[in-house]
Amino acid sequence: MSEQQEIDRMRTPEEALTILQAHTRRVPTEFVGLSSAHGRILAEDIIATEPYPTFPASTMDGYAVLAADASPWREVLGTQNAGETTDLEVTEGYCLRIMTGAPLPPGADAVVPVEATELADDHVVIHQEDVRVGQNVRPQGIDIAVGQKLIGAGTRIGAAEIGLLASIGRTSISVSRMPRVSILSTGDELVEPEETPGPGQIRDANRFTLAAMLASEPVEISWTGIAPDNREALEALLRERLASDDIVLTSGGVSMGEKDYIKAILFDAEDIHIHFRRLYMKPGKPFTFAQSETATIFGLPGNPVSAMATFDVFVRPVIHQMVGAHQVGLPNVMVTLTEEALPADRVEYQRGIVSVTASGELVAHANGDQRSSRLASYINANAYLVIAPREMPYLAGESVEALLISPPELTRDNHS
Ligand code: AMP
Ligand code: MG
Repeated sequence: MSEQQEIDRMRTPEEALTILQAHTRRVPTEFVGLSSAHGRILAEDIIATEPYPTFPASTMDGYAVLAADASPWREVLGTQNAGETTDLEVTEGYCLRIMTGAPLPPGADAVVPVEATELADDHVVIHQEDVRVGQNVRPQGIDIAVGQKLIGAGTRIGAAEIGLLASIGRTSISVSRMPRVSILSTGDELVEPEETPGPGQIRDANRFTLAAMLASEPVEISWTGIAPDNREALEALLRERLASDDIVLTSGGVSMGEKDYIKAILFDAEDIHIHFRRLYMKPGKPFTFAQSETATIFGLPGNPVSAMATFDVFVRPVIHQMVGAHQVGLPNVMVTLTEEALPADRVEYQRGIVSVTASGELVAHANGDQRSSRLASYINANAYLVIAPREMPYLAGESVEALLISPPELTRDNHS
């Protein structure tokens, strides 16, 4: 098979994913402070070097006592506030008023909540049958033990992770560097959204959808722009972006038209290798994957739906692998169709609506017309329904795979 035939071979989406996975390169790591850690992918295991809490603390406002003390009432020696320590020792017949989060004073081994007490002058009467040792006390190290693996490498840093890191004083952490991505819309017909298109012109949509899709990923958008359908100009721009970025996303110019130059530029370039450029998939047939020594090029189709679908199915998982994230790609689930679905001659990724019935079943239906220019098929959609080709239509009640774009909602209709 010639090189040309090999790269032109139609790949199923699974084959394409396998090839992408095999060629994905990890980005280097860097240290960031807590304030810029959100959304980043942790590149080290976080091991606790100190316990949490570092001291036994009260979990209630009340009185720090000796559990075994049988005195009918106790004299209040003073108050133990959060953030303070005391030399006052709790012995039989004595107690200390204590606030939530305050360290247990010396001698005390339990806290009686204020609701179970009655105060008379400087004495307190405890209305509780058995005071247990350790009651309402959070022991040292109960939440975090020294040596415990708190957060694993590959975790996406969210609010709780930042809180934990702050709690143990880890203010600098190793994360994967954000891949630098540029977005290049191609086409002589494209104008900016604020412009009024002339005859035969359309407004550029892909640059904006792709930037928005990248916003939920740990990447840095380094450049965006429009290139004309001019081979020299396009190649010059591509070269410039390839030299400085990790990923170059182009849209348009990958079909069979005379002015679709992307594939030809990539094919003729000595220093760029095309892995594949045809998919057994709808939408997204001309999706192209190529690499230079340092950068990855995704040639997305020009139709807005095709660009979005191939981004979700192929580009997202590559980004996740580049940064070493645990969760790779969109999560997939099996769903039950509530309406008939017509298969195409290629695997079709239909924009659909997945919902959860009252009994917890995941049900789904396609979101209207599936033409690849109809971006509105994404409005209210939360999944791709993966419809494999076959002779027969898929019937309501059949189960198919779905890739979730966002979490399903509870059914509002009577589809189930
Ligand atoms: P192409 O792959 O360049 O042949 O483009 C396929 C279709 O997508 C054509 O109708 C283009 O006008 C349209 N298209 C290409 N790029 C964009 C874009 N950035 N925004 C909206 N539509 C586009
Ligand atoms: Mg074009």
